[in-house]
Amino acid sequence: MCGIVCYVGPRDTKSVLIEGLKQLEYRGYDSAGIAVQHGNQIACHRAVGKIVELEKKLAGLDITGESGIAHTRWATHGAPTEENAHPHRDEKENVFVIHNGIIENYHTLRKRLQQEGVHFRSETDTEVLAHLIAHYYDGSLSEAVRKTMGQVEGTFGIAVIHRNEPGRVVVARRGSPLIIGLSDGSRFAASDVSAMVRYTNQVIHLQDNELAVLTKDDVSISTAQAVSVKRDVETVEWRGEDIELSGFPHFMLKEIYEQPNTIENAMRGRLEPAEGVPKLGGIMPVWDRLKDCRHLVIVACGTSFYAGCVGRYVFEKLTEIDVQVELASEFRYRKLNFPHNTFILALSQSGETADTLAAIKEAKRKGASLLGIVNVVGSSIARETDAGVYNHAGPEIGVASTKIFTSQLTILTLLALLLGRHQNLSLTDGVEAIRALKQVPEQIKAIFAQANHIEAIAENYYHCSNWLFLGRKYNYPIAMEGALKLKEISYIHAEGYPAGEMKHGPIALVNPEMPTVAIVPQDDMYEKMISNIQEVKSRRGPVIAIATQGDAKIRELVDEVIEVPPTLSFLNPLLTVIPCQLLAYYCAKFLNRDIDQPRNLAKSVTVE
Ligand code: GLU
Repeated sequence: MCGIVCYVGPRDTKSVLIEGLKQLEYRGYDSAGIAVQHGNQIACHRAVGKIVELEKKLAGLDITGESGIAHTRWATHGAPTEENAHPHRDEKENVFVIHNGIIENYHTLRKRLQQEGVHFRSETDTEVLAHLIAHYYDGSLSEAVRKTMGQVEGTFGIAVIHRNEPGRVVVARRGSPLIIGLSDGSRFAASDVSAMVRYTNQVIHLQDNELAVLTKDDVSISTAQAVSVKRDVETVEWRGEDIELSGFPHFMLKEIYEQPNTIENAMRGRLEPAEGVPKLGGIMPVWDRLKDCRHLVIVACGTSFYAGCVGRYVFEKLTEIDVQVELASEFRYRKLNFPHNTFILALSQSGETADTLAAIKEAKRKGASLLGIVNVVGSSIARETDAGVYNHAGPEIGVASTKIFTSQLTILTLLALLLGRHQNLSLTDGVEAIRALKQVPEQIKAIFAQANHIEAIAENYYHCSNWLFLGRKYNYPIAMEGALKLKEISYIHAEGYPAGEMKHGPIALVNPEMPTVAIVPQDDMYEKMISNIQEVKSRRGPVIAIATQGDAKIRELVDEVIEVPPTLSFLNPLLTVIPCQLLAYYCAKFLNRDIDQPRNLAKSVTVE
């Protein structure tokens, strides 16, 4: 959601900012704006819609400057109009501010300012920031921002410039990510590192309630209480090419095809095949407590939640641990009763998912220990948890998550295996699991070899407006995830169901116009799934089966078969999800959808 990009330095500020905004487009937004400062002149332009609309407005204008700020807005307060787009400014047009997040007490602040005679131009919560900063300005922008931080409640990442302070950008955060980038003679700041990896991999993660003053060769950080802070410069592992399409038509397809690599990366240096036990350095700080843990609560949202649901079955198979999986947005408002030594495990690609972050903070308050599996190094969830494991999957740009899902499944399996081996799981079982895991990347490539076949199936069925996805046990969450993928990017209505529940309702929907995707690998649920498929077929419902290679029986029963190579039952989801991703992708392609930026959706959901 929403993006911030800032620059100070000798490069062409406007281009750096626009290029940066384009890297953040994937996060979802509805309008964009830019303010570039040259001496005490500030050129500010905003536009509704995609960044190209803003570029059209800038075309032919001579906008140069030594510093600037730019924003993509995902409206929370006020319609997506030009007046509501950021940057917002004070009445005298001295202060220009961009903001991610929500100012919760904006109503009170707005009323107070209006009573003092301030005239507002927009409906946003953000505009109060511009007026407050102008009100407090007394020769120092950073002090005015600091005083404003003391007045506002809610979440924010902000960037501010002032007419009287050329060559300087002040940024601050509380709850919304802000990362500072450093390269020779240039300083950057952004809400997401992908906006600046083209220029630098040297970053500082600003922390909550801190503000930083950026000039072209300096960064000074201090707390909201004006205590100066020293933060280490970190090197990010993402590279410029990670944010390029590299010949693929969409990031989603590129990321689907990256999965053999991202699964390898999730395992790299973490396997001890002879011992049948993984090594996970990131959880060592809590190992003494974790190894005796008997209760684990996985919290997540969206696709990560379904990864957690698969994780529950895997933990049940490999460990003695009792696992609960919870939607973060519900969990955080529940009355939480944990047994002693409960661990909470947060799953989040961005590490900034607002509900997941709030849920783990609440659980910590109640005494639980926190683990995380996140992709973005240094993100809020990575910092908030006591220990965790990184995905190392590179940026995921497609809004619909694919490679992070399978990476999360891989890491959940490693974690379960590690704990299981310290509990009752035998050496033989551990060795067998690692051997099978190592085959998964090659097996996924065998599924890619059927891409044309999957595309042809999508072509046959994409016109159907309702789909059903069925699975059992390990593959029940894959049915949910398959349906979610299809909904997200093709806007086709789809339901994911545990196949055993079909008779309790969804069977009423079955008809020749509603395809059922049955996830039916040869595991201990096979016969039960066959019965459910027969029930669909008896009602003339078309069935697309995702089945184990060489399964002749299924071919006689269903309309279409997509094959996955044989593996251990608890590893099947790593394979069965791939055809679901490709089916969704091709249906969306036939429907001409905006696959990487589906309507209404945002990549990292930083509001609740
Ligand atoms: N709440 C602000 C607005 O509606 C900021 C939204 C955003 O994070 O983009 O303008």
